[in-house]
Amino acid sequence: LHTIVWLRRDLRLADQAAFHAATQAGPVIPVFVLDDETLRHRRMGGASRWWLHHSLARLDADLRALGSRLILRRGRCEEILPALVAETGASSVHALHHYEPWWRNAERAVARSVPLHLHHGNTLVPAGSVLTGSGTPFKIYTPFWRALSERMPPAPPLPVPELAAPAQWPASEPLEDWGLLPVRPDWAAGFRAEWRPGEAGALDRLETFAGRASRYAEHRNLPSMEGTSRLSPHLHFGEVSPATIWHRVADAGGSVDTFLGEIGWREYAQNVILQYPDYGSRNARDAYDAFPWREGADADADFTAWTQGRTGYPIVDAGMRQLWATGWMHNRVRMIAASFLIKHLLIDWRRGEQWFWDTLVDADYGSNAVNWQWSAGTGVDSNMFVRIMAPLTQSPKFDAGDYIRQWVPELAHLSDFEIHDPVKPVRGYPQRIVDHAAARARALAAHQALKG
Ligand code: FAD
Repeated sequence: LHTIVWLRRDLRLADQAAFHAATQAGPVIPVFVLDDETLRHRRMGGASRWWLHHSLARLDADLRALGSRLILRRGRCEEILPALVAETGASSVHALHHYEPWWRNAERAVARSVPLHLHHGNTLVPAGSVLTGSGTPFKIYTPFWRALSERMPPAPPLPVPELAAPAQWPASEPLEDWGLLPVRPDWAAGFRAEWRPGEAGALDRLETFAGRASRYAEHRNLPSMEGTSRLSPHLHFGEVSPATIWHRVADAGGSVDTFLGEIGWREYAQNVILQYPDYGSRNARDAYDAFPWREGADADADFTAWTQGRTGYPIVDAGMRQLWATGWMHNRVRMIAASFLIKHLLIDWRRGEQWFWDTLVDADYGSNAVNWQWSAGTGVDSNMFVRIMAPLTQSPKFDAGDYIRQWVPELAHLSDFEIHDPVKPVRGYPQRIVDHAAARARALAAHQALKG
């Protein structure tokens, strides 16, 4: 009896429990459904669509090498999957658990009409399963990660399955018809130079990183260096499982706890959205609903300057341009750029969250929302609005000179000292759109007014 494997953001063959279980039952039909129709299903952003196109193409090629293939359909999962089950006579559908609210809705809806078997494997442990002594979910990261760590190591990764093909394949839509790639202008040249979507690209990144994982703690905050793993888009699309990363990095030896702790932040974020499904659109601290965010033409102009990397603050601009060119930004610079938007420009964090959602190749509902709410101080885990990052101090502290040189070439001729904070106007580079001290005072006053 054959079964359907419903793929979402778990586009891999190794350590994929849904494939593993389905192959035990007989021939397998792997299916990916692009759902742009369901109302509350967050539509993927442009950068993610670029990644998805290439990742699906790779997965199809990998499946064909094993005598299988990937079936592509568009529409609402709760309609497409039951229709496919009826069409193919499949006995059931296997999938991995996903925790975004729209995916949980889709799982419930699909399960109403076809037998759906959900497996675990896109997180180290099932979200919702790490609990305090009194059986409630953790709100704060540190005790959460301590409790999760006690359950490590994860089970060894499952091998690539042996796949049997059904007697007849259902029809598949051509990937090219989905229009996932930019047409004009082609903004993805920098993406192609930086990334290789798909399972093989993910495993290559992991191998390269494993060789320097023990120096992660020392280098991870230096945006000029390739100190972090750059596994985030691969992890988001599930091209490599977190358990595979855990084992590979732990086996590499040395001090890797700081790195594994970052994988822990990803786990934590999945737990937060399970507990607070609208975390990406709603302040966890209600008091901030009344925050006097700036709106109107001036705020819009400032927002545009921020998105284009034209704020006059070199470290912020370098980050925003790296994001536009490559679909990725170094974590330290994400923190500085987010803090700048929220506090220096006094613009609602949700506008920043949406910009990142559209432009990041690793755009992830949980991780994006958790980090934006953390930066804004509106989240369950922090109340730090008053901690305002000073971009001109952060920049030399994290040795971002060469980073700025790469992404803001107008400033490349300045000295290591001056590049962080040009003293004189530089041709072609904008003046600061806000003064740091005045912006800081404005933000603190707005926060004070909120507190009453
Ligand atoms: P590494 O430092 O090598 O870390 C390894 C992995 O751990 C990452 O690939 C990622 O999966 C996870 N991780 C690391 N830091 C975090 C973190 N702070 N929160 C959650 N997971 C983390 N990360 C996303 O994956 N998607 C997002 O949409 C996203 N939005 C962000 C928005 C803001 C405002 C900020 C400050 C951070 C955001 N991050 C997001 C977290 C972090 O910046 C990226 O995960 C990291 O920069 C990815 O690079 P890397 O793979 O080299 O990370």
